[in-house]
Amino acid sequence: MEAPNHEFIDQMHAETISRLLLEPSPDAMQAYYSKLTKAHNYSDVEVRYINSRIGKGVFASKSYESNELILKEHMLVGAQHTQNKTDALVCSFCFCFIGSIELQIGRKLLFLSDKNSQSSDGHVEDSTEIESMTHITDLNSCAGNLKTPRNIDKEKGSNEDLSSNAAESLINGNIQLPFSSLFSLPAVVFCIGGCEDEFFCSEKCAKAAWESYHSLLCSGPKSLCKDKDFLCKFIHHANETNDIFLVAAKVISSTILKASSLEQLKHKNDPKKCYTSEDCINCLLEAWEPFSMGFKRLWWDSIALPIDLGADDEIGFRNEIKELASHSLKLLKGAIFEEKYAPLFSLQVYGHVIGMFELNNLDLVVASPVEDYFIYIDELDGKEKVEAEKFTRPLLDALGDDYNVPCEGTAFFPVQSCANHSCVPNMKAFKRDEDKDGQAVLLATRPIQFGEELTISYIDEDASWEERKALLKDYGFICMCPKCIKES
Ligand SMILES: [Zn+2]
Ligand SMILES: [Zn+2]
Ligand SMILES: [Zn+2]
Repeated sequence: MEAPNHEFIDQMHAETISRLLLEPSPDAMQAYYSKLTKAHNYSDVEVRYINSRIGKGVFASKSYESNELILKEHMLVGAQHTQNKTDALVCSFCFCFIGSIELQIGRKLLFLSDKNSQSSDGHVEDSTEIESMTHITDLNSCAGNLKTPRNIDKEKGSNEDLSSNAAESLINGNIQLPFSSLFSLPAVVFCIGGCEDEFFCSEKCAKAAWESYHSLLCSGPKSLCKDKDFLCKFIHHANETNDIFLVAAKVISSTILKASSLEQLKHKNDPKKCYTSEDCINCLLEAWEPFSMGFKRLWWDSIALPIDLGADDEIGFRNEIKELASHSLKLLKGAIFEEKYAPLFSLQVYGHVIGMFELNNLDLVVASPVEDYFIYIDELDGKEKVEAEKFTRPLLDALGDDYNVPCEGTAFFPVQSCANHSCVPNMKAFKRDEDKDGQAVLLATRPIQFGEELTISYIDEDASWEERKALLKDYGFICMCPKCIKES
């Protein structure tokens, strides 16, 4: 059966949709965050409702010294950027780097030689190989992301010779680089569903991803997705247009899985009770609660107009963006629609989920261990360094400026997203050497007293007042921080 169109869903489920999009009351908000901060032991911060203009904010539950850790927070949901997948092989659940230094470098060299062979003769020779390297996935997709024995034309230049030969040996484990064992990474664990798109650092992460969202979005043989053809089209479309759609799909699938497990639990606890559709809606609303806290505005109403467009083009631009989301949702519905959870597939809901990621400005960044490795080699002395560099220097030259690209993506961090902006913030997002996965890390930029509001800067706080004002317009507010008041 084909999934119903957006208009039909909007009409049939108007009431539930408006409940999904309703801004939580200050009490509900406070209750949710106090439950969340307790569950994760984030005991040194508190999320509080401030007023109707500002909404909520984060406050210090103790005093902090400069540079002290304020919060290390797990994401609710997130994803690596599509174009970053060739730069960094990471666990799809916790985003730590996996495999080995050799595998990380080998994949990257393979991708670079691929790019060179594309640009040198101006066309793509074997599109399936290129697609697998750039993660434009299809159903059998990314087998090539870990091992891609490839034939690269030997006459294309010395760098490519090195890249292709060395890359294969590095990927296959035939070369061990000097001192790489000091930078060991967790072995690659494959997806439970048998797809070759997602890799993990442990069975634990593979299981957690499977149970929380991936079982519905997996392209492998054990997937619970209803139509893999649609799933493939959805992933392809997102990779080509906006990879935030992939994170939005995780939000939808994790809500479906959570709602259905809440329902099962209720049945188990009270098997005789007759369950109504209202009970089902309540489970859906409960599963949805974490996301309802993060909503700001509809994506197509709030996205900043590209600078090359004039005011006359605005309506057309916004309609185009809405059309893009509508097409993406249509493909997602084809893949995982469930009648019982139809309200989740409303275009309004989808637009708000995307808006949440676009407007909360929470980047996921994990530094590359390859960078640490090359720094270590560089800091060696005498003969040891000379010997090691016989191996590493050619690799470094072939990798060029891109040798240390971090893992980059989009994520939603529930507490961090509540922190208000200031151009003189008292905390900053900063990964320390020991922070090797996708958790958000917030440090104090100066001494902070108990009870003070904790703020971060959404923009470059060193920009001029005019520039800051323009940048913050995208967030929909005028900054009233001490610096802005003084400079205005
Ligand atoms: Zn992991
Ligand atoms: Zn999978
Ligand atoms: Zn300001």
